[in-house]
Order: sequence, then structure tokens, then C-alpha cells
Amino acid sequence: PTSLQLQMSEGSGGPRIDTALLVLSGKGGVGKSTVSVQLALALAQAGHRVGLLDIDLCGPSVPRMLGLEGQRVHQCPEGWVPVHLRLPGAASDGAELLVMSIGFLLEGRDDPVIWRGPKKTSMVGQFVRDALPVGSACRRRGAVAVTTPQIVAVGDVRRELDFCAKTGLAVLGIVENMSGFACPHCAGCSNPFSSGGGRELARAKALPFLGCLPIDPSLAACLDEGQAAGAKALSSPAQLLAQEVATRL
Ligand code: ADP
Repeated sequence: PTSLQLQMSEGSGGPRIDTALLVLSGKGGVGKSTVSVQLALALAQAGHRVGLLDIDLCGPSVPRMLGLEGQRVHQCPEGWVPVHLRLPGAASDGAELLVMSIGFLLEGRDDPVIWRGPKKTSMVGQFVRDALPVGSACRRRGAVAVTTPQIVAVGDVRRELDFCAKTGLAVLGIVENMSGFACPHCAGCSNPFSSGGGRELARAKALPFLGCLPIDPSLAACLDEGQAAGAKALSSPAQLLAQEVATRL
């Protein structure tokens, strides 16, 4: 499962994709959507024009995290028209995030996604093609691999890295999510899932280690309540991570 982030600029022939950033993980639940949403928001807040394409077919959670559940998208001759999310707190006036998700195509949040096999593959292909302006070739593209610190998750992401190597997609680096828990009561830091797996993987694969995001109960609450774009949700580790990613693109 993957999600894709796109940085766009206006060209003479309409919007053009400059940079495509693929956020991937070896398995579900490690925080791929969380990292994608936080990166997209941080980059948009910093003045980049960003589109977030959520191609999680089985459990698209981006609409819920951003408070966009129930929004619908439609097709026009040029492709899908994404949902525009205004970011009032951003440094630049009129900052917004363009969001596209399989979730916008489902009738209800509990609807099962029934595409499987070749239909699923073709749906993803169509979705990616039609959500990108026709004929646009990205100038830059790269992948960010998300893992939790545990050995199992790290083992899973290794396969995704091999996939990137085979398909010639540059991996910008590794992010370790759910890395340590800063207790709000005693100010102590613990590591419920052990620690350091992401850093170790980066070392073993000779890839940059992009940074850690700690387990943050207030972030989890914001995501659950659809407040991921709210002023309190964007953590400083996420902002640092976005800066690190931006410098490597
Ligand atoms: P994935 O997209 O890889 O399936 P999600 O981003 O949906 O994973 O994350 C799974 C769950 O873990 C979500 O409920 C999310 O709110 C929570 N979560 C992810 N990262 C963090 C974090 N750093 N701190 C707190 N909760 C997190």
C-alpha cells in the first residue's frame, strides 16, 4: 500500500507536476497515511503547492484524518477534480492542499472496497493517471519508506526497498514512526516498540535516515477527530522531517 504526494507548479499548459513523492511501507498500520498527511501539510504550510493522492484501496483514511469525510469528487475531461482544503493558519495567504482518495469514491465510510486482482491494479493505474494532469512528466520523483522500530516492520519494508531498486525509483530515505513515547505525565521517554530499527535499516541499506516521529497521543486524537490540518496537529518533528525531505528532492 502506498500513497503519493505531488508538488505542483503552474506552467503554460495548466498545472504541472514538478515532484512526485511516494510514501510507502511494507505493511499497514505503521503510519504511512499519518506521515503522508503531516508531510503534505508541512510542505503546503511552507509555501509549496501540494496534492496528496491516497491510493490505499483497502482502508483509505486520509479523508477522515483531514475532516473531509463525505466529500465527493467528480471527473472532468482532464481527469479527476480533487478536494481543495484551505489551510488558514499557513504563512502564505490562500495556502491549500489538494486531496484525492479512493475514499471519496465510496458511498459510506464503512463501504467495503471490492476491487480485487486485475480490476484493482487497473483501478490504481486509472486513478494515478487520471489524477495527474494529462501529459505531465515529473521532473523529480522519489520514495520515502516508513517503518516502525520493530524488526518485523523493518523486515517488511526491505521488500519495498528492493521493489524501488528494481523499478529505478530513488529512495530519499527512511522514516521511523512511533519511535519512542514521551509521557505527558512524568516527562520520561519510553520505547514500547524497541527502538532504532529504522536507523539500523538505513545504515544497512546505505540510505539516509530522515528522522523519527514519536508516538504522540494528541496527534492520534487530532487524526481521529479529523483535525489533522488544525493548528495543534502539525508537530515539530514532522516539520523537521518535511524540511529534511525537501532538501533531498
Ligand atoms: P497506515 O497508513 O500505514 O496504515 P496510519 O497512518 O493509518 O497507518 O496509522 C495507523 C494508526 O496509528 C492511526 O490510527 C494513527 O492515528 C496512529 N498513528 C500513526 N502514527 C502515529 C504517531 N506518530 N503518534 C500517534 N499515533 C499515530
